[in-house]
Amino acid sequence: MKMTERFQVRPGQKVDLRQYDPDFTAGLKSKTDARRRLKENIDRLAELQYLLYAENKHAVLLALQATDAGGKDGTIRHVMSGINPQGCRITSFKVPSAEEADHDFLWRIHKAVPGKGEIGIFNRSHYEDVLVVRVHDLVPRAVWSRRYAQINAFEKLLADNGVAILKFYLHISKAEQKARFEDRIREPRKHWKVNPKDLEERKLWDDYMAAYEAALSRCSPAHAPWFIIPANKKWFRNLAISEILVETLEGLDMKFPPPMCDVSKLVVK
Ligand code: ADP
Repeated sequence: MKMTERFQVRPGQKVDLRQYDPDFTAGLKSKTDARRRLKENIDRLAELQYLLYAENKHAVLLALQATDAGGKDGTIRHVMSGINPQGCRITSFKVPSAEEADHDFLWRIHKAVPGKGEIGIFNRSHYEDVLVVRVHDLVPRAVWSRRYAQINAFEKLLADNGVAILKFYLHISKAEQKARFEDRIREPRKHWKVNPKDLEERKLWDDYMAAYEAALSRCSPAHAPWFIIPANKKWFRNLAISEILVETLEGLDMKFPPPMCDVSKLVVK
């Protein structure tokens, strides 16, 4: 079965994250098993990006969401390692600035959407507005509960305008998060990543899972699907995401545009 089918949340599906094994590796035993396939995917992605840029017809938007230490940064570093920075834009969404907070929640998002020929990567996304915002009651329930429909309408607009949207939830277990936090505390080179706030957020794990389940269940239409990626094993996470990207880009059936003149008649003097 293709990874795209295996991990995609079907439209209307009610997601229960306890049914998804974060340790799943599709029978692959180790990093070595995945290495060659990952390398092939990364090389293929580079070719497909070249074609995407040349054709200038589609935009590709990748949204990455995860709990703290879920692996968003590592995914970008590994899976995108073959991508030409010229055609790629990464946007990290943090706590909204004063100016952003004075606008509707999609204002800052819309500005960061990739244009035709580009790959845009969202490190966090508009989904924070139904995740952290919902868990901490940063706006009243009446406000965040309307956002699922608003997100669906927004993503439909983008899809109708040639944006291929792929949303990845990196699924790690609570035990794996503990191990990653402990590693950061142990390893001096990782101390810069230690944030006491993350330990506070961890106490709200169940609330976050409920918020993720709602977003995954309510916002996964065929034109903007969510993928639940088993992410305890970083090598499998990278393999799965790279494979879904390749499958999706190949499905766009892209072609090089015809030359603007009869090149066989051109002579360079
Ligand atoms: P990261 O954890 O992604 O590496 P940071 O440590 O700077 O980066 O965390 C960014 C923070 O911004 C997260 O705590 C996230 O929940 C928060 N954030 C992002 N978007 C929003 C939003 N719309 N409203 C409130 N907080 C947000």
